This record gives sequence, C-alpha cells and structure tokens, in this order.
Amino acid sequence: MVDYNRHLINGKWCLAKSSTHTVIHDSATEQSIASTSHGDPSEIDAAVNAARAAFLAWSSTPIAKRADYIKAIADNLEKRLSGLTDSITAEVGMPIKLTRKIQVQAPIAAWRATADLVSEALAERTVNHSCITRVAVGVIGAITPWNYPLHQITGKVAAALAAGCVVVLKPSELAPSAAQALGDAAIEAGLPPGVLNIVFGNGATGQALTDHPDVDMVSFTGSTAVGRLIAANAGRALKRVALELGGKSAAIALHDADPATVVRSTVASCLLNSGQTCSAITRLIVPRDQYDAYRSLLKNAVEQLVVGDPREPSTRVGPLVSAEQKKRVLASITAAQRQGHDLITGGVDAQHSREGYFVTPTVFGLVPGSASIAQEEIFGPVLTVLTYLDEDEAVALANGTPYGLAGAVWSASAANAEAIARRLRAGQIDVNGAPFNQIAPFGGFSASGIGREGGEYGIEEFTEIRSIQMPVAPQP
Ligand code: NDP
Repeated sequence: MVDYNRHLINGKWCLAKSSTHTVIHDSATEQSIASTSHGDPSEIDAAVNAARAAFLAWSSTPIAKRADYIKAIADNLEKRLSGLTDSITAEVGMPIKLTRKIQVQAPIAAWRATADLVSEALAERTVNHSCITRVAVGVIGAITPWNYPLHQITGKVAAALAAGCVVVLKPSELAPSAAQALGDAAIEAGLPPGVLNIVFGNGATGQALTDHPDVDMVSFTGSTAVGRLIAANAGRALKRVALELGGKSAAIALHDADPATVVRSTVASCLLNSGQTCSAITRLIVPRDQYDAYRSLLKNAVEQLVVGDPREPSTRVGPLVSAEQKKRVLASITAAQRQGHDLITGGVDAQHSREGYFVTPTVFGLVPGSASIAQEEIFGPVLTVLTYLDEDEAVALANGTPYGLAGAVWSASAANAEAIARRLRAGQIDVNGAPFNQIAPFGGFSASGIGREGGEYGIEEFTEIRSIQMPVAPQP
C-alpha cells in the first residue's frame, strides 16, 4: 500500500492533518493498492497563501529561466517513467504499452514542448501606438480527473507555470501517483517554494480550492455537472475559469469512405482507455444503405479485441477505473437495451464474472439521434451507430448533442471530408484518421467546456492581456 498522505505546500511535503482518505483499488485485481488523504480547508488555505507569496517573484522570473525549470521537471519525470507506467496502469486500467506511450511519454514531451513555445506565446505585439503584453493571471486552482492523470495535470500546470502563474493542484483521488511524481520532480528541479503546491483530496477538497477568495482562476477538467457548479460559483466571485468537460463525439462516414478503415479507426478511438477518454468517438454516423456492411464489420472488429489484464502485452481493452464507474456504465447499457436498439455486440448478458472492473465492449445500432445512448456521455466501452440519408442529416446528427469536443470525418476525398469538418461544432476534428496533435489547441464548444489547452493557446489561457499606450507625437 502506498499512502498519499502528504501535501506539497511551500516546497515541502507536509503530513496531512486529517486521517480521512479514499482507498484505491487495482482496477484489474480489485486489490487495495493505495490510499489518498483528503486535504482540508486549512491545508488549501496554506497552499493558496504559499502560492500567493511566490507569485511576484515567479511572474517576474525571465521567461527563459522559467522554461529551464519546466525542462528540468520533464527530465525528472522521465527518470520516473517506468514507475509511473506501472502505477497509472494499476490505477486506471489502461493496457501497459499504451499507458507508457500515451499516459507518460506524451505528457513528458508536452512539458518540453511548453518550454519551447512559451517565448512565442508571450511575445509582445504592437497595435498602432499600443504595446500589447500578456501578463500572468495569478494563483491558479487546478483540478484534474483520473482518466489521463499526468496528461491532464500537464495541460494545466506546465502551461500555467510557463505563463508565470503559480499553482495549487488538486488531482483526482483515484489516480494520485502522477501528482506525487510531479511534486517530487519539481522539488528535484529546485522550483522555488510555493510556485507549485499539491493538495490531495476529494470533491470537497476541490470545492475548498475553487471557492478560496485568493484563487484568481480555476482550471478544471472533469464532468460537465461539476464544471457547471464551478463556473456558477466562479461567476459569483468573478473568477476566471477554464473548463475541459465531457463529450459525445461523432465520426461521419461519407458515402465514398472505406468502411473497413472507418471501423478500425472508430473502434480504436472509442475503446481507447476502455472508453474513458473525453474526446473518444462514441457515435458513428453511416449512410443508411451501408448499415448492414458497417454492422458486420463492427461486430467482427470488436469481438476480435482481447479484453483482459492490462499488464499482458496482447490486451487491447483493460478494465474501467473503479467499481462505481463499472456500475454506472452497465446501468447505461441496460437502459439502452430496454429501449430496444439493435444490439450489435456486447450487452449486459455478455459480461464476465471475473475479478476487476471489466465491461465487455458494446455496440448499439440503428439508434435515433435523440436516444439517451446517443446523447449522454457514457465514459465506458460503448459505441452507438446512427444512420443518415444525406450529408445535411449527417451534419445535423453530429451537431445534435449538447456537447462539442471532438469529431471525425471520412471520405475518399480529403477535400470533401474537410468541407464537412468545417460544418461541425466541435473543438477538434480529424480528417481521414489524422493523428492527435499535442500542440494544437484542445477544448470544447457548448457543454464540452470553455477555453483551450495545449501549445501556445494553452499558455495564453493563463494570461491577462494588457495594452500600454505610448505617447503619439502631435500631427504637424
Ligand atoms: P468529476 O467531475 O467527478 O471530477 C473531476 C475532478 O473534480 C476530480 O479531481 C474531483 O475530485 C473534483 N471534484 C469533484 N467534485 C468537485 C467539486 N464540487 N468542486 C471541485 N472539484 C470537484 O469527473 P471524473 O473524475 O469522474 O472524470 C470523468 C469526467 O471528466 C468525464 O465526464 C469526462 O468526460 C471528463 N473529462 C473531460 C476531459 C476534457 O478534456 N474535456 C478530459 C478528461 C475527463 P475527486 O476525483 O477527488 O472526487
């Protein structure tokens, strides 16, 4: 058992005051592996005060020097690559090869990219006689979920530190190892005390942070329900917010797309991390006259995937994060079956009774756009197939949820696919399986959030804009 019972406050790991904690289970074996202490309001207060005290010096530190600290943190995280891969695999359940690459190596690369991009992101501009500068917002309350723990932390903390902000991080109680490693890496890098503070805890700890009067901005990643609550409270205090929330992203297969390629990529996106990915493609929109072909390809593709121990190299789909998440996902599957949609594969009767929080991948077909399974985020291995008669209907279906996080378009012609992509109301859209771009802005429209993370836009998010008007010589 690992006890995450120390909070990083003012440069030191301090023993938690409260003994209340959450027990964390290995998602594949259900064994207890760790516990996370719940930080209390006095610890949040101490962390915010330490951050405030560090702000002036950190925000006036030359950009190149801040970038050096960020690179040193990346190097120190890299030393922990293998331990982090193991702990995140146990916490979250993602297959180990993917955990290493996506959950650990990619965020470390993002720390480095942030250091490389910060000068450009904060570059001054001239508009007539005004000098436009970007100024650090101040004390950031950062709150992150469990699904990609280091990645989510990186999108906020690396960018905020680069911008000159100081941070109090409240990571997910279910996946604390990434935050612990980051705190150790920051201390080793010699980051000045108070610049980064970490308070472990639960939702109440998060709320104490977001409500703290000396937090200037809340950067939150998590569910839309909690995001709304945070935005409402921040609105009353006129605090800035950045919200990365849920999604119900759609892929549109145009008539001339290759169904086998579409199915391979869509299944991979939907089932990545057992569907616990906010930008997962969870709706596939196909031509009505091609439904049977897609149905049989999807059934084969999904049933061939090895579901099992995330530590086995052959495993493609691991367990979900927790018993609670499994229960929630199975309830959605049960409700969808009761509504009588075409069950292509999976379903409640296909579940295994083995230990671990596994859910058999499930695909529903011929689902109307208004059905709950086509509207609500499930956050599990569930794909929904919708059909259309013409492109206008396909676009309307894709845009027809409260969300707008991601999307995909497939066609034999990349130009046609791009034309459809331009009609989609979502933050990032892939044409013909284009790969993820770590330094492109990432974020959502509507119920998927406010603001962007990643690359230069992600750094700008943590800045205020100041115009300084210089005197103008009188006209002759
Ligand atoms: P939650 O919204 O439940 O929690 C997210 C974080 O907020 C956790 O650290 C949680 O603490 C904390 N929290 C919970 N309640 C409060 C509160 N009242 N005030 C302040 N903080 C609070 O989401 P999950 O952790 O369950 O993550 C899954 C959700 O996140 C999915 O809906 C998913 O779509 C979304 N998500 C969005 C992403 C995006 O970039 N758009 C990326 C990843 C996930 P604790 O866990 O300790 O209870």
